[in-house]
Parts: sequence; C-alpha cells; structure tokens
Amino acid sequence: ERNILSIRSFLILILTCITIKFNLGFSGTLSSLQTLPLNGHFSFDEIHHAARDFGNRYRYLPLAVLHPKSVSDIAITINHVWQMGPGSELTVAARGHGHSLQGQAQAHRGVVINMESFRGPQMQVHPGKNPYVDVSGGELWINILHESMKYGLAPKSWTDYLHLTVGGTLSNAGISGQAFRHGPQISNVHQLEVVTGKGDVLNCSEKQNADLFHGVLGGLGQFGIITRAQISLEPAPKMVKWIRVLYSDFSAFTRDQEHLISAENRFDYVEGFVIINRTGLLNNWRSSFNPEDPVQASQFESDGRTLFCLELTKHFNSDKIDMINKEIENLLSELSYISSTLFMSEVSYIEFLDRVHGSEVKLRSKGLWEVPHPWLNLLVPRSKIHNFAQEVFGNILTDTSNGPILVYPVNKSKWDNRTSIVLPDEDVFYLVAFLSSAVPSSTGTDGLEHILTQNRRILDFCEAAEIGVKQYLPHYTTQKEWQAHFGPRWEIFMQRKSAYDPLAILAPGQKIFQKAI
Ligand code: FAD
Repeated sequence: ERNILSIRSFLILILTCITIKFNLGFSGTLSSLQTLPLNGHFSFDEIHHAARDFGNRYRYLPLAVLHPKSVSDIAITINHVWQMGPGSELTVAARGHGHSLQGQAQAHRGVVINMESFRGPQMQVHPGKNPYVDVSGGELWINILHESMKYGLAPKSWTDYLHLTVGGTLSNAGISGQAFRHGPQISNVHQLEVVTGKGDVLNCSEKQNADLFHGVLGGLGQFGIITRAQISLEPAPKMVKWIRVLYSDFSAFTRDQEHLISAENRFDYVEGFVIINRTGLLNNWRSSFNPEDPVQASQFESDGRTLFCLELTKHFNSDKIDMINKEIENLLSELSYISSTLFMSEVSYIEFLDRVHGSEVKLRSKGLWEVPHPWLNLLVPRSKIHNFAQEVFGNILTDTSNGPILVYPVNKSKWDNRTSIVLPDEDVFYLVAFLSSAVPSSTGTDGLEHILTQNRRILDFCEAAEIGVKQYLPHYTTQKEWQAHFGPRWEIFMQRKSAYDPLAILAPGQKIFQKAI
C-alpha cells in the first residue's frame, strides 16, 4: 500500500511540475506579446470569435487575437514567434472573414491575426491600359466591387459569394462561373505583398520573388500572410441577362456546358446545379425569373425527377439591348435544354455578383446561417464526370439534398501550374460542390452525421472507381493524406515551406505541417 501511495505522490508531483511549467510558459508568452511595439493591439479576452468559422464544427481557442493596424504589426509579431524558436508551441493564423469550413483559419493556443481590422492604406483603383486595384489582404470582395465600379471597372474573376477576403480566397483559388474565361482569382493577380513565416516583408510578382508569388497563390496560407494584392480589372458592364434552363439528361447538360466554355465570346458566366426531388422549383423562381413562354412553363412538371439547371449570364449596357437579345437567341438555339424551361431575368451587374448575400440575409433571419456546414468540394476530371454523376446522383443522393449542388466545367489552360493549387490531370475538369447545411441535433437525413456519411460514401466511391478527383478547399488530418493530395507536387510544396516558413508557424489549422516543439 505504501508503494502505491508513493507512486501516486510521484505522479502528482510530475503533473504539478508540468502544470507550473505550462502556466509559466503561458504567462511568459502572454507578457512577451504584450511588450511588442505595435500600432494595433492584442486581445486576450475577446478570443472566442476567432475559434469559430462558417463550417461551425471545429473550435480551437487561440491564446490571443492580434488586431493589426499596419504591416509592421504583423511582421513584428511573426518575427517575435520566429525568434522564440522551435521550443515554443506558438503558431499564427491569419483570419480573413472566417468562412473556412474545418478550422483552417484557427490556431489552437496560438495567435490569430484578424485581417479584417487591417485595412492598410486605402484601396486604390489604377485605371489605364492594364487597370488594377491595390487592396489590403483583409479587404472584402464586395467592397472591391463597389469601389472599382465607381471607375466603371471590376475584377474579372469572382467567387459566388463576395463577403470573403482577398487573402482568404487567394489562399485557395477563387472559382466561379467566370473561371472558364479568365481563370480563377489566383490567375488574375499582378503583385502581392507577403509577410513570411520569419517575419520578412516581401513584394512578389511574376518578375520579383516569383517562387514566393506562385507558392502563396493557392498555398493554403502556408508560406506567408498576404497583406496587399494588386488585382486585375476590366471594364464593367452595367447590366446582365441572367438565364436558367433545365435538362433531365445529364449528358445533354454537360455537352452544352462544355460547348459553351470552349469559346470565350459566348456567355460571360457558365455554371450549373443539380435539382434533386424539388417539385415546386419553378414556383420558387417566379419572383426573380420570368419564363420565356409562361403557358408552356406552367405545364412543366418535374415529377420529382433529378434535373440539371444550366445558369448563364451575358453582360450588356442598355443601348445595345436589341443586339444582345439577338445574340442570346442565337446562342440558346445551339443548346438542347427542355424548351419550356427557359427563364430569364435582367439585373444590375452588382446585384448579380452579390446574389448569394440575399440568401444569407434570409437564412440569418430564420437562424439557418449559423448551422454546421459539412461542405464537400471536388474537382472531377471531364472523362469521369458521367461515372461520377451516375453513382452520386443516381445512387448516393437519390431522395434529397441538403443544400445546393453546383456542377460546372472550367478550362485548365486558364490556370497557372506554377501556383500551389492541385488540379486533376485533364484539360477540362468540373467543380462539383455539395454545399450542405445540417440541422443541429437532428438524427435524420438533414442531420450532420447523415451528411458526413454521404460525403464519405462519395469520397470512397471516387477512390474505389479511380475517378482522379482532387478536393478543393481540401481537408485532411494526416500528412500522408496531404502527400497523396499533392502527389508529385508535394516535393515543391515542402521546399517552399522550408524556404518561407521553416518552423511551421503559419496556418496550423490546415493540419499540413506540425510545428516542431
Ligand atoms: P478564412 O476562412 O478566414 O481563411 C482561409 C484560409 O486562408 C486559412 O487557412 C487562413 O489562415 C488563410 N488566410 C486568410 N487570410 C489570409 C491572408 N491574408 N494571407 C494568407 N493566408 C490567409 N470559394 C470559391 O472559390 N468559390 C465560391 O464561389 C465560394 N463560395 C463560397 C460561399 C460561401 C457562402 C462560403 C462560406 C464560402 C465560399 N467559398 C467559395 C470558399 C471560400 O473561398 C473560402 O472559404 C475562403 O477561405 C474564405 O475566405 P475567408 O476570407 O473567410 O478566409
């Protein structure tokens, strides 16, 4: 009994030592951060917001949140963490608008940099022959749209939702229906200012520090924090014709999509989505879309079939309306949608680009925005899209879906293979996005567990059938899985990590590299 007691006392002693060491380290870290000469400030109490994101599933509390007022605040903080060396467990995550899905912008017991409070020098539009806008990495795309439209200009490539930051989308890719013409957002950047994992502030572009420039684009925040970006602009239209047509045949749907992205002067935007078991669908559109032939449209019955909706836009200014109408008529005559399902609408360019915000406002008012979002985004090679659709839409998701499912092709030639993004090995590939929302604490088909199981089934099928998909906004938890994701590009990804963030301080929430302690 005495032996047991002494073992117990020994264990208590060890635990006490560990706790004291941890607390000393903890308070030492806090006070060392407090002494940094910053223009902005650290917050040590109001940190809970930084442990949340749109996915609403992962919560890692940081130690502190930095509200930077200048690039040097960010550089000083990172350099301080770098100087602490590999003995310290402190890491740093930039948080854009926190619209990640699985804690990618979080830092467990680390420092989260609130990029939105860093707006840096004012956004500046540079009109001229090659127009661009110079913005802070924490700027929201919606603000860039409003500012550049004052000059009759706008960025060329977008995401479907604009309340995201420049740094957040450039760390992934930034994909929407314009990507087939202009490439993703990462193909439309002239220059970046980046703070590396050592705290160095570097400008980079195609011509200057090109390896860092390409590494950071699509680099999942691993090589540096984007503090400024120069984004390419084009003359903006005032209005768009917004068109939706339906298909019941997936092959006809994808044939038309691929036809439309094979040339640039057809439509300005090409997307598509899947409609599973939604009988009242056309009624839902009535408020914003007019059927071309109301009598025929009213007779259309979807009968619970799975349908595929092609979504298109054409830019125009009111003085050219007749010409545009003719052009659209000609272009539509090349397509083989169900003829009674042509729906059209005319909206301002801003209204079109900011379209998802309207849904956000509605969902927020019903308490349905801040629910778990177990999204799954896949890039599927063109040659396998039919296999994929047959199993996923024909077998796995037959009865219902828990949110929009986007399906649209893009051209790989518009992507730069020197950037960090990983793509399927074909000239044309599809973005297939399962944008599910879960009903909290439901155990039914709208519950989180059910949706996660479906996601797993989709991924398992892709692996077994060797579809060759790549995840977009990827999420893995082991380095082995990340290695498989990057494939032959893993080597260069690792080289860049050891060049720009050798202690693995940055973006720990991606779970690619673990800081050595
Ligand atoms: P955060 O979630 O804050 O950060 C994302 C990652 O980038 C983190 O690892 C973070 O550490 C890092 N990071 C953030 N800022 C910086 C910076 N300045 N420098 C370096 N690293 C940084 N994506 C598309 O491509 N197309 C879409 O159409 C699209 N639609 C969406 C619609 C909705 C409603 C939502 C919620 C997301 C959508 N996304 C889309 C995904 C979106 O692009 C990513 O979730 C993006 O990361 C969100 O940007 P954020 O500013 O919230 O970044």
